[in-house]
Amino acid sequence: MKRTDLLLIGGGASGLCAAVAAKRARPGASVLLLEHLPRVGKKILATGNGRCNLGNLHAGEHPYKNRAFAHGVFAQLGTDELLAFFRSLGLYTRADSEGRLYPLSNTAASVLDALRLACARLGVETLCETRAESIRKTNGGFAVNDRFAAEKLIVCCGGCAAPAQGSDGSGFALLRSLGHEITPLKPSLVQLTTDTTKIRALKGVRAAAKLTLSTGGEAAGEVLFTDYGLSGIAAMDLSRFVIPDRKATVTLDFLPDFSAQELTKILGALCRSDPALPAENLLTGFVPKALGLAVLKASLPAVPQQVSAIQPNEIQNIAAALKGFALPLTGTKSWRDAQVTAGGASVKQFDRRTLESRLCPGLYACGEVLDVDGGCGGFNLEWAFLSGLVAGRSAAEALSE
Ligand SMILES: Cc1cc2nc3c(=O)[nH]c(=O)nc-3n(C[C@H](O)[C@H](O)[C@H](O)COP(=O)(O)OP(=O)(O)OC[C@H]3O[C@@H](n4cnc5c(N)ncnc54)[C@H](O)[C@@H]3O)c2cc1C
Repeated sequence: MKRTDLLLIGGGASGLCAAVAAKRARPGASVLLLEHLPRVGKKILATGNGRCNLGNLHAGEHPYKNRAFAHGVFAQLGTDELLAFFRSLGLYTRADSEGRLYPLSNTAASVLDALRLACARLGVETLCETRAESIRKTNGGFAVNDRFAAEKLIVCCGGCAAPAQGSDGSGFALLRSLGHEITPLKPSLVQLTTDTTKIRALKGVRAAAKLTLSTGGEAAGEVLFTDYGLSGIAAMDLSRFVIPDRKATVTLDFLPDFSAQELTKILGALCRSDPALPAENLLTGFVPKALGLAVLKASLPAVPQQVSAIQPNEIQNIAAALKGFALPLTGTKSWRDAQVTAGGASVKQFDRRTLESRLCPGLYACGEVLDVDGGCGGFNLEWAFLSGLVAGRSAAEALSE
């Protein structure tokens, strides 16, 4: 049996931060990180389209799931501390107009390198291609795979989203084996599948919209029409609210800054001032032409040649369709396409200040394996990094002398 003071399972965003924090808190402690892929941090490289949206200036106010629990971490360390942590590793960042934080280099590899090299410099031992299959409580702590013994253990295996990047749900099985409750899991920040009758001709078209889900939930931003339904930041954000197996409709408002009445007036005036205008061009000043045509088809019995043939009551219908383009939801894409897991280890069983298990003292969890998730914009990595820093520091400080 190989003995170590602190053992971490999972070399992703939260695990790498936890390892650095643990070594900084207790430089003399032995810290071992197990990663089942050939290299650590594979998912970090895929984040933010390869640019790594590593946090958000507004994370403190973000409506995370289990926000009160997440605030146990944010009360200790916030975005300023996250940025100071990265600066201490030599990594500098910039914020965009929405507060999304990226490395100055604009490449995710810089973030992984900063964390990976800090682990090596501080003496964290990393074992790749080593999968944790079992955890057993022992007198002095924990045994993993009956091969590694440690006084303290951090489970930082991520969730089920994007299994090709290493996180295949095994962390849930490990925690469940020790009696932890796992709340229902579903893919989140994932594309929406819808009835495609009205959007068949729109594949590849992008538009700004406010999206509302009939069962509750809203999101705003860019949508991308696809051959299965909707992608883009607004659709991914709305997926947080989808209730699996529950019928729902997604309604798109392409012009949230106008009322239906205002639009009816404007479109009526356009039709009167230029009666020979080809009807298919009526909406080109508002939305992309192909989308305008789809809106006209959804609101008129047939799209006429010229706007002069559109009746006043039909103009009202067009305005209503621009503000309420409804698509029946059929579901979401799968774990393979999801960025995040909604659901996870029940936060009731963890101390929100230390992230130590209430069921198994000496065991800690951080990142996506816990039942905390946020929307698009850097919020999930910020949670993973900050919860990793807190779990790593707490576990190291709790080691016996
Ligand atoms: C394509 C994509 C893009 C994203 N972009 C962003 C973004 O720009 N901004 C943002 O905030 N969030 C983004 N996310 C979400 C973010 O990456 C995750 O929320 C975050 O990585 C979670 O960190 P984690 O440490 O909990 O888990 P992970 O980063 O998934 O790390 C878990 C690690 O544990 C390892 N592991 C799992 N099981 C075992 C086991 N049994 N034994 C040993 N090792 C194991 C895995 O191989 C993995 O390396 C994105 C996600 C994806 C998939």
